[in-house]
Amino acid sequence: MHKKLFIPGPVEVREDVLEKMATPMIGHRTKDASELQRGISEKMQRLMYTKSAILLSTSSGSGLMEGAVRSCTGKRAAMFSVGAFGDRWYKMATSNGIPADLISSEPGKPTTPEMVDKALASGKYDLITITHNETSTGVMNPVEEIAQVMHKYPEVVWCLDTVSSMGGTKIEVDTLGVDICITSTQKCLGLPPGMAICSFSEKAVAAASKVEFRGTYLDLLELYNYIKKKDHQYPSTPSLSHMFALDYQLDRIFAEGLENRFARHLKMAELVRAWTKENFELFPEERYASNTLTTVKNTRGISVGDLNKKLGEKGYMISNGYGSLKELTFRIAHMADATIDEIRTLLNLIDSLI
Ligand SMILES: *Cc1c(COP(=O)(O)O)cnc(C)c1O
Repeated sequence: MHKKLFIPGPVEVREDVLEKMATPMIGHRTKDASELQRGISEKMQRLMYTKSAILLSTSSGSGLMEGAVRSCTGKRAAMFSVGAFGDRWYKMATSNGIPADLISSEPGKPTTPEMVDKALASGKYDLITITHNETSTGVMNPVEEIAQVMHKYPEVVWCLDTVSSMGGTKIEVDTLGVDICITSTQKCLGLPPGMAICSFSEKAVAAASKVEFRGTYLDLLELYNYIKKKDHQYPSTPSLSHMFALDYQLDRIFAEGLENRFARHLKMAELVRAWTKENFELFPEERYASNTLTTVKNTRGISVGDLNKKLGEKGYMISNGYGSLKELTFRIAHMADATIDEIRTLLNLIDSLI
């Protein structure tokens, strides 16, 4: 039996979107391929509220995270972490020999504007990385407040991980001043895993131009230059299947309406938060609670593994806590094309099992 996924990626994918993955192939050096990629780029610009160039990468989101740090750090990177995915970004820097410092918050706490200001005031850094929505702890960082601080440091490249939030909540990339905003297909966008997408600002282009060793496959400047020169094509063979499905799904997203989509995510989040407070506790501080997934503190000491097994028998799946938070927390994703009714059904089902 198929289990309906309420895990923070991969998410449940609609049947009609899955079918688009089976579109017959076209040549990747054809006008049709250029048109497909150009169309996706324009739609992604609209979704991300940006005029920056859009880069697609046939990798998961981690590929572009590694590529961004490697391609654009000239001096030293300040990497703010509020959990597992922030830590992973730091590891990507150090394993590539890129000078970087990890600036961590306690689990469940956000990255604050003060932390960013303090680090950047040292003048040591020319790039920062921030996790918009930390999928392990369920914290959504206050990026609007951080943006106020970033205006003081116009020379610093800002990379933002929106892997588990882009498409589920409003992220105005240009207003915030984000240079490289990264996401991937299998979370709020509601597609199968396998493709990553980012915005790439002129500042990021200038920064990358000064970096000598940017690698090859994930060299974001090379991707950018190729797209410009070859009319929206790729240096290597992209996953055209994902591109067909992404193009289609973006049309569906605009047909729903961005504001409606964000409101639906918020409504689902409010339902899950209210249920959590009635039965358990929220893991993050409520004002930083994510709109796309909820991390629940397992205050009743239930066996999350058992609960998920029983949910599985009914055709549903949620997530255990991430890493060391396993069994101490569990996570319910409310993202992509999940509906308010589905979330209600899931919560009622959990009620009957705990
Ligand atoms: C899932 C996730 C990642 C990793 O993305 P992949 O597409 O699996 O490589 C990075 N950051 C966050 C916040 C995530 O939720």
